[in-house]
Amino acid sequence: MECAVFLDRDNTLIANDGDLGDPDRVQLLRGVPDGLHALRQAGYRLIVVTNQGGVARGRFTEDDVDAVHQRIAALVDQATGQSDLINRFYYCPYHPKATLEDYRRDHPWRKPSPGMLLQAARDMNIDLGQSWMVGDQPRDMTAGRSAGCRTVYLGPATPPASETPPTVTAPDFPAAVQHILRVTPPRPAGSGSPPPEADPAGPGRGNPMTRHATRMPVDDTDALPRLARNVAELTDLVRHDRARRAEFSGYRLAAGMGQLLVLLLAALGLTQLGSSELFFQWMTGAVLVQLATIALLLLDQRG
Ligand SMILES: [Mg+2]
Repeated sequence: MECAVFLDRDNTLIANDGDLGDPDRVQLLRGVPDGLHALRQAGYRLIVVTNQGGVARGRFTEDDVDAVHQRIAALVDQATGQSDLINRFYYCPYHPKATLEDYRRDHPWRKPSPGMLLQAARDMNIDLGQSWMVGDQPRDMTAGRSAGCRTVYLGPATPPASETPPTVTAPDFPAAVQHILRVTPPRPAGSGSPPPEADPAGPGRGNPMTRHATRMPVDDTDALPRLARNVAELTDLVRHDRARRAEFSGYRLAAGMGQLLVLLLAALGLTQLGSSELFFQWMTGAVLVQLATIALLLLDQRG
């Protein structure tokens, strides 16, 4: 199995105090290319995991996110003289309060949920217990810890109070890399399996980008949202069914007329009390029509 360092993107790898959808504004933070190179040298896979709620707010598109990621990958490769140093980018464009309806939902990939890390582990055969998550937000720590990784918080020595304290804090990215390499030294040359580079998600320039958070991921991390969707669909069905039942129905019209006929036949039967044979005939007719009426109502229920 592979070991990975999961990397938050904004203010971990690049400067971004707002919604960044323009690749020309990408700025790598100090020491990021060398740090990433050192981690790859040590045998780690490098996987970016980033929430991109700006898509959900309509600030930029998923294509913009891809363009920014291509730019980050290119700048890192350019600075290090390597090729495809960052293995993959995962991002989550969804937000529960999105302005764009298509993106308005909670999603198991959205940090602090660990969905992106779990998906990457499945996609790339990652040993999460031997991996790290580096980020500048408590949600990064929660996502990393939930996935079973050790975590590095980038920020002040005393991180903000969080339900999920980091494994360690570091003032910046190079310090985080130093810590990871100190705790888990580089593999001796020739040991371990080389990172597999072939990746069906990355045709073209070869950097295997994961296109986006799949809209309907088929995995167990999606079980709860999927259940919620199913319940919502069921509710819609019931609502639709009620509306349908409130609508005009030919069966019910026939049943109503049948019921009137039953009353008429019964009344005629009562007028023939003097003749038991006629009374029996009228009442038999009433019973048969009543049975037909019930059958019509049952057909209406099933339809
Ligand atoms: Mg961040």
